[in-house]
Amino acid sequence: MKHTDTQLSDNLRAVQARIAAACVASGRSVDAVQLLAVSKTFSADDVRQVAACGQRDFGENYIQEGVDKITALQGVAPALVWHCIGPMQSNKTKLVAEHFDWAHTVDRLKIAQRLSDQRPAHLAPLNVCLQVNIDGGETKSGIAPADVLGLATEVTKLPRLVLRGLMTIPDPVDGFDAQVAVHAKARALFDEVKAALNLPQFDTLSMGMTGDLEAAVQAGSTMVRVGTAIFGGRTYAA
Ligand SMILES: *Cc1c(COP(=O)(O)O)cnc(C)c1O
Repeated sequence: MKHTDTQLSDNLRAVQARIAAACVASGRSVDAVQLLAVSKTFSADDVRQVAACGQRDFGENYIQEGVDKITALQGVAPALVWHCIGPMQSNKTKLVAEHFDWAHTVDRLKIAQRLSDQRPAHLAPLNVCLQVNIDGGETKSGIAPADVLGLATEVTKLPRLVLRGLMTIPDPVDGFDAQVAVHAKARALFDEVKAALNLPQFDTLSMGMTGDLEAAVQAGSTMVRVGTAIFGGRTYAA
């Protein structure tokens, strides 16, 4: 799908305005929430256009597709920050460790250990979030809330990772209040784990997407992951 010249910049500005309005509505500072632009299925050229409007953080779900874009956009300055937000199998951890800046979907120690072992020495430690199955949803990705502190404690011991926070993808629910209620559970868990770990770098709660970012901001998200509202609807290869 081709975008017109101003479509992506208009979309980006509209999303920034939504985030700012949600911060104001919930009494939070407008810089309390970071925007992660989710570029999965869109081209490196589209990413380049959005980057030209000042956006730095981009999220990819499919690891090889992400690596192709990271490689194509290596020369962009200031450098882009790449987040892996898709499911990670063991055989893909090396690519993530070698190319991405963040991994949001760590949900078991084995994956964390591989990422730490495989993180190249010349790169800064990889930023990681633990994916939590906050609503017990059918997707089955993510660890149970009760297991988060145990895994978090182990992950903080890994030398080439920095544990930055938690990430959730709750199943869609109708209505603002119902959305806030689910996200509020994640915020409560985040606060509890943060207090127990007592680490300043544990500062990221990655939740909220195109359909529920206002509710996520209201509940205390610090990073919303937005694809459709910036890049448009996705068409997946069959
Ligand atoms: C695709 C995706 C998003 C973005 O979703 P939109 O509804 O298009 O904003 C956010 N997070 C994850 C994990 C995704 O896979």
